[in-house]
Formats: sequence, C-alpha cells, structure tokens
Amino acid sequence: MTVGMPARTGVDRVADVWGERTPHGRGTVWPARVDVYLDAGISAGAVDRWVPSACVLCSNGCGVDIAVKDGRMVGVRGRGTDVVNHGRLGPKGLYGSTPWASSAERLTRPLIRDGGRLVDADWATAMGRVVSRSKELLAAKGPLSHGFYTSGQLFLEEYYTLAVIGKAGLGTPHMDGNTRLCTATAAAALKESFGADGQPGSYTDVEHCDAIFLFGHNMPETQTVLWARVLDRTRGQDPPRVVCVDPRRTPVAVEAERTGGVHLAARVGTNLALMNGLTRELFAHGWTDQEWVTAHTVGVDELRRIVDPYTPEKTAKICGVDAADLQRAARIFGESDAVVSTVLQGFYQSHQATAAAVAVNNLHLLRGMIGRPGAGILQMNGQPTAQNNRECGADGDLPGFRNWDNQQHVRDLAELWNVDPMTIPHWAPPTNAMEIFGYAQDGSIGLLWISATNPAVSMPESARIRKILAGDQCFVVVQDLFLTETGQLADVVLPAAGWGEKTGTFTNASRTVHLSERAVNPPGQARSDLDIFLMYADAMDFRDKDGAPLIGWRTPEQAFDAWRRATAGRPVDYTGLSYQLLRGPTGIPWPVNQDTPDGTDRLYTEPVFPTDTDHCETYGHDLLTGGAVTEQEHRALAPSGRALLKGCAYTPAHEQPSGEYPLLYTTGRTVYQFHTRTKTRRSRSLNDAAPDAWVEINPDDARAYGISEGDLVRVESPRGAIQVRARVGNVMRGAVFAPFHYGFDPEQLHHEPAEGGLSTQANELTMTIWDPVSKQPYFKTAACRVSKVRGGDGPSTAPTTAASAPASVTAVPPTRGGQPTSSRVIPSPDYPNDPAGTTPPASPADMSGRS
Ligand code: SF4
Repeated sequence: MTVGMPARTGVDRVADVWGERTPHGRGTVWPARVDVYLDAGISAGAVDRWVPSACVLCSNGCGVDIAVKDGRMVGVRGRGTDVVNHGRLGPKGLYGSTPWASSAERLTRPLIRDGGRLVDADWATAMGRVVSRSKELLAAKGPLSHGFYTSGQLFLEEYYTLAVIGKAGLGTPHMDGNTRLCTATAAAALKESFGADGQPGSYTDVEHCDAIFLFGHNMPETQTVLWARVLDRTRGQDPPRVVCVDPRRTPVAVEAERTGGVHLAARVGTNLALMNGLTRELFAHGWTDQEWVTAHTVGVDELRRIVDPYTPEKTAKICGVDAADLQRAARIFGESDAVVSTVLQGFYQSHQATAAAVAVNNLHLLRGMIGRPGAGILQMNGQPTAQNNRECGADGDLPGFRNWDNQQHVRDLAELWNVDPMTIPHWAPPTNAMEIFGYAQDGSIGLLWISATNPAVSMPESARIRKILAGDQCFVVVQDLFLTETGQLADVVLPAAGWGEKTGTFTNASRTVHLSERAVNPPGQARSDLDIFLMYADAMDFRDKDGAPLIGWRTPEQAFDAWRRATAGRPVDYTGLSYQLLRGPTGIPWPVNQDTPDGTDRLYTEPVFPTDTDHCETYGHDLLTGGAVTEQEHRALAPSGRALLKGCAYTPAHEQPSGEYPLLYTTGRTVYQFHTRTKTRRSRSLNDAAPDAWVEINPDDARAYGISEGDLVRVESPRGAIQVRARVGNVMRGAVFAPFHYGFDPEQLHHEPAEGGLSTQANELTMTIWDPVSKQPYFKTAACRVSKVRGGDGPSTAPTTAASAPASVTAVPPTRGGQPTSSRVIPSPDYPNDPAGTTPPASPADMSGRS
C-alpha cells in the first residue's frame, strides 16, 4: 500500500460522509480501500511509526494504525487487511481519533474536593481519600455500600480487573455500565432467544444477503463504515433490497426507496406492534420453515397465538404506517433467500425494547435463517467496547456469560478466583444502572465510582442525576480524560490515559477482537484505567482464600491471559487467543479455541444454541413484565440446544401526548459526534460540522407552531426544558427529535434547567423509566411541547447531511461511482492548516467525558 496523495487533495469526509463507492456483486469480496488522515503539514514519509489498533468511536471496531510523530499521535490509517473495514474509516474515525489527546484541557493530575472546590492533589492523597472512604463504608455498612458505573469505552483487561475487584474483592452486586443505556437490550435479546449473549451474524453477511432490514438503526450515522459496506452492495450487481424501520427519513429510508424496499416510519413507541404485525404475516403466508422450526426451536405455537391479533390493518392503525407497506416488507422478508437484520437504539432505547428486539430474532428463526452466509442477525452495540463490559462482568453479569442463578457457575468462578462462593454476589439479579443511581440518591450506596462515562449528560432526567451526584449522601469518584460535567460534581477526580496511551484489547459488535497497542505516553500524571484499578486493589489489600493477592496480574497481557482462563468452556471462548495472535494483520472473532484456531465468522452454523439449562447464561424472562423464569421452569421447558421463540403483546408507551404536551419527544445521534463529545468536539472538523444542539421538527408542525428554520425554540416535558435552534427537517409529523450529545452550560450546574431555561441537554426531558427485561431507559418515548422563543438570524447550525438535513434537502449527499482506490490521504476539511485540530473554540459545552 502506498500513501501517495498529498493532504488537501483528498476527500472532504464531512461533506462526503461514506466516501466513494467500491461497488461489487453478491458473493464477492468487499474491495479494499485504505483511508488515511494525517495532520496538516505531516506527510506519510514523515511519520515515525504506525502503531496497530482499532477505532474506538463506535462499535464497528475498524482496524487502524495510529501515526506517531515526535511522541504525538498525528493521524490514522485504515488497515486494508482487517476483516472489519478493509481499510476504510469514517469521519469520526478519521478526524476524531487523535486531536483530543494533545488538548490543553486534559486532566493531568488528580483532583480532590476541598472547601467545596476541586483542587489539585497527588495520587497518594486522592487514592488515599477513596480508600479511606471505602474502608469506612465496608466496616460500617458492608459491600452493598459500593457502586461502580463504567462504560463501553474501557479495555477488556480493565473491565475484567474491575469485575474481580467488585465481585470477589468487595462482593457488591452494584456494578453496571453505560452499556445499560445502549446495548443492554442487545444482550438481553440474544440471551432470551439463544440462551447466551454473542452476535450470531457477521459483517460478511452483507456480502451475501439479498435483503437488509434495519430496525431502528440509523447505520449511516452510527456505523458509517458498515453503511459504506451496505452501499457497495446496493450499488453493485444483484443488489439487496433495503427495509428501514425508523420514524425519521434517514439515509436508510432513502436507500430503501432506491432499492425497491420499504420505509416503515412507525409512530414512536410502537415498534413491538409493528414487529407483531410482520411476524403474523410470516405465519399467514406460510413464510416459515416448519421443519426447521420444529427441530430447532421451542415456543412457536405460543408465538403464533400472541401475534395473531396483529392484522395488517390493526397494526397499521397502531403504528401509523400503510398496511400495504407492512405487507410488502413482510413479503421481502418472507421471500428472500438470505436476510441481514440489524437492530440498534431505535428499538433498544424505546418502549418494550427487549420484546421488539427478540421479535427480530423470531423472524429469522421462523425462516431458519441463521448460521449461513447472508442470513445474519446483528443486534448491534453502540460503543466500541460495550461487548467486553458484558463479557467480563463489569456490568453486573458474571464473567464469561455465566448465569448468576446457576450455583455451579458461581462455584466455577469461585474456584477460578480461589474465593468463597458466598463472596460472589448471586443472591439476587445484578443491580442495574437505574437502580444504582437510585441507591446513590438515598445514600445506601455511599461510594459511587464512575469511570469513562458522563452520566450528568447521558442519563435520563438530567436534573435528578445532577442532584444525586452533587449531594452529600454519596461520595463520588470520577475517572476520565477531561473534567466532564460529571467530574465537576465529584469528590475525587482521577486522570486517566486514553486510547493510544495504553495497551489492551476490545471486541466489536461482530465479536472481532483487536489489540490496541500503546502509541504515546499519557499526559502528566494520567494513568491507565487498569493501573488505577490495580492501585485501588493493592491499597485495599484484597486477598484470596489462601491469603495470596486476589489479583495476580500487573500488565494488560497478564490480565488478558487471566481472562482467557475465565472463558474456558463458555460460549465466549477466548482460550485460543493471545496478544501474539492479535498482532497479526486483522482482528479475530471469538470463539477462538482448539477447534476454531482462526476464529469464528458466524455462530450457529450448526443450529445448536447454548440454551441447555446447565449451560445457558439466563433462564429467561417474561417479556411483558420482566418476571424471571425459574430454573425448574426452564428445565421443564427443556430447550436443550433449541432456540426460544418468545412473544409479547404490544402495550402503549408510558407517556403519551396530551393536551398539555401534544408532541412525541425522541432523542438520537448525529454522524459527526460521539456520545457526550469528549473526543469529537475536540476535532475542529467534527465540532464545526455539528457545533451546537438543535431539535428537528416536521415542516407541517413547524407551520402550525409558527416556527421557521433557525428559530430559537423552547422544548418542554414534565421534567425539564431546553432552548435550542430549530431544524425544520425530516422527522415524522407529531414528533420532535433532539441529539443527545450536548452537555449543559456550567453556569447552570446548580440551577434547575426549567428555571434557567438555558440548557441544551436533550436528557433534561427524558424519563426515569426502563424496559422490564433489559432495564434500558426509554430515551425514545416521551411527550413534549414546543414554542418559539424568538426568530433566528439564519439557518440552525445542525448538519445539512444525513438524517438531519433540512426538509427541502435530500437526506443523502450525492454518491460518486468509482473503482477501488488503494489509498487516500484525507485532510481535515475545514481547518486544513490547523496542525492537529486541537484548539477548538471556547464554548460552554467544552466539557464532556468518554461516554
Ligand atoms: S465506523 Fe466507527 S469504528 Fe469505523 S472509523 Fe467510523 S467511528 Fe471508527
């Protein structure tokens, strides 16, 4: 591969989000195209070294090499040999991967709260405060006084180490991650249908399918490289049809229209009704593989009974879609040879989340469409390392997809760690994030340790979260790269090393594991999250049954090897992996063991599922109530390797539009920002592409409320209010869409937003209410009202591409046809002369965490 094109002559990936097409036909290999970004003034020849890694700005996990010059990260290059991306990188990966690292705003020293203010401290003082509070609480109240709230952005080794600290050192069940706000439903849906977490499908299924269904998944903005992969099929020979389920006219919807597919703009909060309608159509038209279903599933008769009332007409009425469109979509699913289904937050963060996601699995099972090329289910993740949190147990589950309700699984873990089984909390289900914050609110959790996430922005009902974090009832520790909104409310702040500044592994949404090597040193006194957790473990002097240190590893590789041992015999089998193997040309999908030394592209090629009662990760739940299935009930059901078909009746969402709040409120993402913008806002290109919060409103609603593009509007729910500019856009009529990335003005920290009225934070309006099975909060369903505050002085600064484009503009920028290219250097388009894009303009929203 050569890096030949000079900077400033490449593609502007902010304007041309998915890059030029490399079309190819069904069953052929996705052509490679290596994308490169280097800071202005840096040529490829001037790079000192390229350090292998993978991108951490979404769950796609694209393989990259980090360019290092003079001890700084100065760019990235896609890895042409990597199975995930074949060299491609999207705008976030290209422009957002490195500028944050040399920001002057990095935390370089620990901070402690003294006299109400955060002041500089050294590590001994800061960690001393944490340890002394921890010991006091353990002595006074026991392990349930401790809570840990992590992320989808730590490394595997860090999650596993923290899981051992929490479960075998302290013995607290109060551990969860912000994965609860994102992928908890993916995990829950996989467990309910197949007995254990683990993505059945592979990205390579895109190459083989003849239809692609995206359920609540705005892939063009959340996983841009995977969408480029889809576009290269839809623009090639024998293209698949695309079906889009989304209340906005996203680029997926446009592609659905282009390919002869369908856009089902189901009313916000009605996903499950839609899925029941689609499922009924499969039964009604005989689009099921009865023989396969009988041999490899249980529950078909009950599922048929549950979905029977959802006729096309009834479903259309509930969902606000055309019955004929519903039938067309069902026909595409029923008559295609190989369907890829992807699911994301539109389903997960919505009403009846797990039931709707399980219904996607049901469609595939009814057609026996799993475990073969092109027939893939991708219950997607949002964050780059969310999968590892779920695997390692820092989210409350037991490591290795073990079942907390299975005594033998607990004993196995106790033996591995050489601790008493009763130390490991398994007397009740793990505490979820929503409960953890509730316990912190009432003070029964007296120490809440938050790492690599920013709940002050990302949790629902922001005013409540701020009060919890700022109150005296709970000692709050925050570990992050920057002084986030959350950090500002903490009692101790610990400076952490970020991606490229530490070594570790992580696993993407398609089970592909990458090793990310340390490329540069962290700034000042910042330390890796692994080192911070080990420092705490040492100070607490956690011991096993024989008096030896509980945690016997000191390096990432040693932690990885310990993790490999923990996975032996489990579905998530890493035993055949090693750092040495991961230093090869590509990431490797688990399971990797003696039988599959090269990894496993897709699961369930033999339709045997991990549902045996003694093996499964959960006995399952009632999808309507979340009521747990008992071991005895599971044994009586005897799935024994068969998948479970499960259904649930639709019920209306908790908060419906009313006279006072007549519109639906839904939140989501933009292509140019990631989570609360820690990294992406510190890239000038990305920041300028979407610098401020906005809300999208349908043109008809805008007319009715006298609102024009760019006007300042006030959006209110029963919980709070925001004031932002309006984008008259492509959201469905009767709904308001707000991007969730943007934090609040620090001046508002100690005021109620409804009083100040100046917050721009989408979660001021969302609800503390969650899905009964996955415990994921509803970010997609609430009621709101909108009013104009004053006229604008021009269009809002919302992006003019993708789903946020103005209503008068096509949602998809022109796509260039073309042949595979070997390599392109892509400059930072808006600031080509800025050395690193590291000096973003001052802004009240200057604070954001890794989440
Ligand atoms: S698709 Fe995701 S992982 Fe790939 S470059 Fe973009 S942000 Fe990074």
